[in-house]
Amino acid sequence: YQAKRERREFVVYHSDSDNHTPERLALHTQLSRAIRENCLALHYQPKVRLSDRQVVGFEALLRWPHPEKGMISPGDFIPLAESTELIHPLTHWVLDEALGQLRRWQEQGLGTCLAVNISPHNLLNPGFTEELRELLASHQVAAEWLELEVTEGALMADPERALRSLLAIRELGVTLSIDDFGTGYSSLAYLKRLPTQLLKIDRTFVSAMTHNASDAMIVQSTLALAHNFSMQVVAEGVEDEATAAALNRLGCDIAQGYYFGRPMPAAGVEQWRAAYGQPHDKSASN
Ligand code: C2E
Ligand code: MG
Ligand code: MG
Ligand code: MG
Repeated sequence: YQAKRERREFVVYHSDSDNHTPERLALHTQLSRAIRENCLALHYQPKVRLSDRQVVGFEALLRWPHPEKGMISPGDFIPLAESTELIHPLTHWVLDEALGQLRRWQEQGLGTCLAVNISPHNLLNPGFTEELRELLASHQVAAEWLELEVTEGALMADPERALRSLLAIRELGVTLSIDDFGTGYSSLAYLKRLPTQLLKIDRTFVSAMTHNASDAMIVQSTLALAHNFSMQVVAEGVEDEATAAALNRLGCDIAQGYYFGRPMPAAGVEQWRAAYGQPHDKSASN
């Protein structure tokens, strides 16, 4: 565990003591095998443009179908991967799978953007940009179709290095987005320097905005801020029409949430698209 020791400065989410319990060590071994043996899965959640309710892309969300524990959510194993070197092969697997899917959709004529979540450890890994470039080339996918989401908190671990890395990734033509905005502590001076095109308002503010005035105010201020910095805004966690309509009135660009579609396996996406496009869809219901 020398490698783990060296990366201790990056352990953000879990204390070391958590990582050394027999259960976590066993889970680590199983996760490592799941990556190698291709036993993870991506689910895809639609992103919808609020002005005309058109689908503008999807976000890939990682799932681990565990033989005994059932489906494990990323929140329960990403921190474990992040506390060791496992986050690197894990992200490689995710990008490889996501780009493969993107390519298949393009071949089927379903041109769409796909967003992938990356960890701060990926961003701070010096070889990451090159790895990304090679993956795009090997899947023959133009960089414009790929979007990378980095959480605001993640950028704060090492703001200067994160910024350099984002600039290099942006050079490739990949779209960048700040995830979970409002939960970190980035300064306006830092935000202004980021080469990001999208900002995602965290769902904690979105979910209560129709009945909580201060959350509505946070959403409104974030929209003004992002638009002043020429970024488009995505609202996360939209669960009802009232929220979607309120966001549209405030000028929010894109929405994502259970109201439009839950994360689903690739096999369900085509069917979802067909159903969404029907006359009784969300855009016609109000
Ligand atoms: P995130 O990127 O902010 O993703 C949004 C999360 O909110 C997802 O949880 C999604 O399923 C959930 N969600 C979407 N719409 C709604 C809604 O209307 N209501 C509610 N209550 N929840 C909604 P999930 O899939 O459990 O992912 C959790 C987090 O794990 C993600 O947050 C992301 O930070 C991380 N993650 C997911 N996949 C990956 C990955 O491939 N790599 C890395 N590094 N992190 C990942
Ligand atoms: Mg995300
Ligand atoms: Mg998010
Ligand atoms: Mg979030």
